Amino acid sequence: MPNNTVTFASLNLAEPLMRAIVDAGYTQPTPVQAQAIPLVLAGGDLLAGAQTGTGKTAGFTLPILHLLSSKPAATPRAGAPRCLILTPTRELAAQVEESVQTYGKYLPLKSLVMFGGVNINPQIKALRSQVDILVATPGRLLDHVGQKTLDLSAVEILVLDEADRMLDMGFIRDIRKILALLPKQRQNLLFSATFSEEIKTLSDGLLHNPGFVEVARRNTTSELVTQSVHMVAQKLKSHLLSHLIKHNDWKQVLVFTRTKHGANRLAEKLNADGIAAAAIHGNKSQSARTKALAQFKDGTMPVLVATDIAARGLDIDMLPHVVNFELPNVPEDYVHRIGRTGRAGSSGAAISLVDSEELQHLKDIERLIKTQIPRVTIDSFVPPAHIPAEAPRAPRPQHGQKRHSNTTAHRGQATTGNRTPGQAPRAANPKPRNQQRADVAAPPRPRAPQEAPQKPLLSEAARHQAMPQPALFSPRPAARRGK
Ligand code: AMP
Repeated sequence: MPNNTVTFASLNLAEPLMRAIVDAGYTQPTPVQAQAIPLVLAGGDLLAGAQTGTGKTAGFTLPILHLLSSKPAATPRAGAPRCLILTPTRELAAQVEESVQTYGKYLPLKSLVMFGGVNINPQIKALRSQVDILVATPGRLLDHVGQKTLDLSAVEILVLDEADRMLDMGFIRDIRKILALLPKQRQNLLFSATFSEEIKTLSDGLLHNPGFVEVARRNTTSELVTQSVHMVAQKLKSHLLSHLIKHNDWKQVLVFTRTKHGANRLAEKLNADGIAAAAIHGNKSQSARTKALAQFKDGTMPVLVATDIAARGLDIDMLPHVVNFELPNVPEDYVHRIGRTGRAGSSGAAISLVDSEELQHLKDIERLIKTQIPRVTIDSFVPPAHIPAEAPRAPRPQHGQKRHSNTTAHRGQATTGNRTPGQAPRAANPKPRNQQRADVAAPPRPRAPQEAPQKPLLSEAARHQAMPQPALFSPRPAARRGK
């Protein structure tokens, strides 16, 4: 979404950066770039409200590269970066560092990305040479600090990217530890999609007289994204999704599920239906995640099934379709999810498959985005005559419940939802609700949620109590009744 008045030429970026911008095919700065670049170049602190998809990465990377290249390091030392960029997830770290390389390709600056889940030794080796820009997730960075393989005393510029998500993921203690290791005199840039009280507290303590930029107001959705809701029973969702993908010949679909377990199950189901799909979440090895993402990006695998946390920071250009296989519990996550499409000026479609139990979530989302999402019926979809009984889903957290809530008030209770009369209650889940969201690490070690071991969502006994729900989706009653 280019800004009509500001040009890249008017931003006075160094010539090697201008060449890289031309190579990237960018003709005009996006609004966040037009506003943030001059503020960062002026050397001040910055508080920026910008969601992923706005071009925020170039908004801080370009001026940082300019500043570092125009002023040589006072005392260059191996393993002592001049700029530290902290991100919540491995994928985002990798993508930000890729952007640093893309925009800095004609500059002699060196960058390094470090995150957990991979062998630490190549990172230690890389730190034995010059590193100007380090992009890191907090946990692995502190591992290096502990091993004394990283020197943070030369940091001139600190970036907290997606700071709201870092707090959501429980990184605040790690961030505070890292801040204490940095030189007092430095430039601080904080990017966040939302401005909660916690973000305000963090920015008040971190930033000095910051410039302020806000480009995408909180909880707004892009007009470039066509949103629709298909009302469909949970047990029919995978059938409808297979149908939508095949019938419309979708080539690239990012599908969100609520749990890692659900992501795995759905990917298996799609593969069984002849649609190449992979699940991406924190229990997958880093190499499996990287491979799946690469195949998805290059078009060899049309479907990527992801949980919210794993999908955070995935930068896939021109993603045409995002599917909410289940609605998120936290309405703001809906905005983040569908922000994966309609990015940087291209249009996209966000399709939500909604079971009757999710209607309250749908209402919460519509209240947040101040829009009624059109309900769409797929006439071409004929539900299968036989649907094997499958394990029930885990009870959902209460509407709007935050992920890291420590509430135990409902421990072990079954939810009833808005079930039809006569339908069996869903099985009780022995785990506290805050741990039922398998993509989130349970306290007390929230540092690396991606690495939390996966636990079964339901006991065997609970599986036997599975009761299929009546289908809401009934375009062809005869076919649905089957024999
Ligand atoms: P980001 O919000 O940083 O994740 O960027 C979203 C996407 O916008 C990335 O794929 C960038 O390559 C792209 N992008 C960044 N700046 C521009 C620009 N000025 N013009 C067109 N696309 C851009």
